[in-house]
Amino acid sequence: MSASSDSQRPPSQSYGAASMEKIVSLCKRRGFIFQSSEIYGGLNGLWDYGPLGVELKRNLKNYWWRVMVHERDDVVGLDGSILMNRAVWKASGHEDTFSDPMVDCRSCKARLRADQLIDKGKGRQCPNCGGKDLTEPRAFNLMFKTYVGATEDESSVTYLRPETAQAIFVQFKNVLEVSRKKLPFGIAQIGKAFRNEINPRNFTFRSREFEQMELEYFCRAEEGMKLLEYWKDERLKFYENIGIARDKLHVLTVPDEERAFYSKGTYDIEYDFPFGRQELEGVAYRTDYDLSQHQKASGKSLEYFDEETKQKFIPHVVEPSAGVDRTVLALICEAYSEDQAPDEKGKMETRLVLRFHPRIAPIKCAVFPLLKNKEQLVAKAKEIVDLLRPQMFVFYDESGAIGRRYRRQDEIGTPFGLTVDFETLGEKDTSLRDTVTLRERDSMKQERVAIKDLANILVSRIA
Ligand code: ATP
Repeated sequence: MSASSDSQRPPSQSYGAASMEKIVSLCKRRGFIFQSSEIYGGLNGLWDYGPLGVELKRNLKNYWWRVMVHERDDVVGLDGSILMNRAVWKASGHEDTFSDPMVDCRSCKARLRADQLIDKGKGRQCPNCGGKDLTEPRAFNLMFKTYVGATEDESSVTYLRPETAQAIFVQFKNVLEVSRKKLPFGIAQIGKAFRNEINPRNFTFRSREFEQMELEYFCRAEEGMKLLEYWKDERLKFYENIGIARDKLHVLTVPDEERAFYSKGTYDIEYDFPFGRQELEGVAYRTDYDLSQHQKASGKSLEYFDEETKQKFIPHVVEPSAGVDRTVLALICEAYSEDQAPDEKGKMETRLVLRFHPRIAPIKCAVFPLLKNKEQLVAKAKEIVDLLRPQMFVFYDESGAIGRRYRRQDEIGTPFGLTVDFETLGEKDTSLRDTVTLRERDSMKQERVAIKDLANILVSRIA
């Protein structure tokens, strides 16, 4: 829970086709991300995911869950509530310390984060108006306060959670008992978190409501540093496996003075966004700080009993904590590309393609009858849609020239397109009956595939 420091990071190198302006506009035009409450002028730092955005986000979360929970024997899941007893936030340190130092400019009344002031050697200045009449920094808590129940007084105060991790710590004992896991083992959770960021910016990168994917991996003290390395490497592999190029990922070793006092080591996994190199995920060795704090404050034992050594102790924890929204944004930035491809008449034109890894692409396969007014073609195409639907998200499209239909799918990153043509009906060559063309988005190569093999081929390519 470090204070944000976007301005201190080095800018990314040239970004090819992807500028944020183009990305934001594509996201709105094709239904990935909209401004929240748009018809009322929006609300700063809040976003809605449209029909394609929600699929992309879901695919990302499902893959994280698959890798972090289902494919392991040593991790179980949890889905904690967003509102929790205020005592949790006192014990975790969030109520007292989860804040950014803020300064008010008395000239233009802007409220600024202390690290955003400019200093050209003549003292601190307001970046808005250049004024020097500034207040001393004051802590501004980033948690959204709310009241539980009918009365709005101090006794009913709590906060929208600023991270999902605390539910894991306070349920540690319950989960340990029911899962009967032995150390080292982890508890994973995906869910919403809220921070009243002073300066939401860079599209969804810094939002006020966002989702986290967090794992708390409990271990013995002596395993902590080794597991920190292990999880950093695992998480890097994860990003590569969803299609993020390794050379755009960076590991920042958080220096001692920026690290939380209880952490023995923290890495930030960063990505080269068009607006600079920024954090996607933090991987931190948090020692036994969190469980110790909750044990002290609640008076309930959060110790682990080692049956072999007959010792009781508070486990240490390594935490890989990733942002869903930041990863979705990185996926879109990474996928965005423009190339040259021939149009219907063979003339070269600029093609906009989202080169999503098939695993996370919102729509896996589009199915097209060559002509919409040929009943048999349409019927066959719909049969294929029904055949594939139980296994993947399929889109049927019969409108417009086939080339245009391909382009529409390229633009939203659909990796495969199937066309049902007269060969499929076996009209010219009976050996081609019940085959279709399968077109791959990036290479635009086409192959002829038997309908009966389609499900297997596609499932293996999107797994
Ligand atoms: P930053 O320094 O960028 O504010 P942080 O170090 O405070 O981030 P953590 O508390 O480590 O972030 O949270 C873990 C992850 O949650 C981050 O790596 C990020 O992916 C995500 N996250 C945190 N704050 C936000 C936010 N305001 N909007 C979107 N995602 C966020």
